[in-house]
Amino acid sequence: MTRHQGRHFLHIPGPSPVPERVLRAMDMPVIDHRSAEFAELGKTVLQGAKAIFKTANPVIIYPSSGTGAWEAAIVNTLSPGDKVLMVETGHFATLWQQMAARWGIEVDFIPGDWRRGVDPAVIEEKLTADTAHQLKAVMVVHNETSTGATSRIGEVRAAMDRVGHPALLMVDTISGLASADFRFDEWKVDVAVSCSQKGFMLPPGLGFNAISDKARAVAKTNKMPRSFWDWEDMLKLNANGFFPYTPATNLLYGLREAIAMLLEEGLDDVFARHQRLAAATRAAVDHWGLEVLCQEPKDFSPVLTAVLMPPGHDADQFRQIVLDNFNMSLGSGLSKVAGKVFRIGHLGECNELTLMAALSGVEMGLRVAGVPHRAGGVDAAMTLLEQPLPGNAPRH
Ligand code: PLP
Repeated sequence: MTRHQGRHFLHIPGPSPVPERVLRAMDMPVIDHRSAEFAELGKTVLQGAKAIFKTANPVIIYPSSGTGAWEAAIVNTLSPGDKVLMVETGHFATLWQQMAARWGIEVDFIPGDWRRGVDPAVIEEKLTADTAHQLKAVMVVHNETSTGATSRIGEVRAAMDRVGHPALLMVDTISGLASADFRFDEWKVDVAVSCSQKGFMLPPGLGFNAISDKARAVAKTNKMPRSFWDWEDMLKLNANGFFPYTPATNLLYGLREAIAMLLEEGLDDVFARHQRLAAATRAAVDHWGLEVLCQEPKDFSPVLTAVLMPPGHDADQFRQIVLDNFNMSLGSGLSKVAGKVFRIGHLGECNELTLMAALSGVEMGLRVAGVPHRAGGVDAAMTLLEQPLPGNAPRH
């Protein structure tokens, strides 16, 4: 095991690095979660989370990972035998589909090549064919963390509206929220699923469901057995800032700080920063002569970039060399693309200079690992980042 000094560079696409401000905010004694002091914290984060989802509707916060919040979305709104439409955008869409199948849901799983987001035209075709309105939900992943492809949720909604189909729109925005543009109310999303360790810049441990009036009404009559995940149990206590069971108090302190940071920067600026860092990353990858996994420019992710290794070179060996030599963690290829891609996370607490350090680590790693590439990708990224921001607005 190589020993390193200085900070570790965590450039996987989540968990993302936790800012010092958030770490300090969490460094607090645990308080009584039935106290008036806690209720203030509870009300603040429940209200603040709405701003991040861009909704006036309730946001539920579970002490869970994202997988738990996926399950909450399913058990509140669906029942065994229900039919839903999902799209194979990558590893996470496949896992959500497998979870739905375990709950007895019949999934029409539109196959995909893991190189693009959802095609809204295919959703429109499927819904048009469903004249009996058997499909209860369209369930899509906003930012497919395994491939670096983002789906255009506003266009999926527009397709559903054109057909006039009543299915719920359920969106996994686990790695999209607070990094990629997401508008719960405007896009009429019914359930949005997220978690703490990506754009919120927190440690893992919080799961989120934002829920529309329509989804809440469906849940009230849905007979699927549930207890821990039940929305109504949560909402009843959330009304006064409390939770039906022990919440993750110190993560909520961190959440309060993270929401403040995101709103201080302004969500639109947060999204623009992510787009800019992603563009610089792709400029480096293009220059190296390597291939970005996502093939649809409209779907390029602002959150992460998945890079294909040249044939004959193993992505995991390359990642190990980068870790051993430069103390940086890059994301691995998952399931179908294991060993074939590595992923560069550029989300959350990431700026021009942290990205440049990460890209330098990748370029040095390519050289050390003997992976054929054209030197100078780092310069290509610098050239892009030297450009002034639109409108010459001072950044700091
Ligand atoms: N969905 C997406 C898009 C993800 O990126 C992840 C995790 O990376 C999950 C779901 C699962 O979340 P968790 O690992 O927090 O359970």
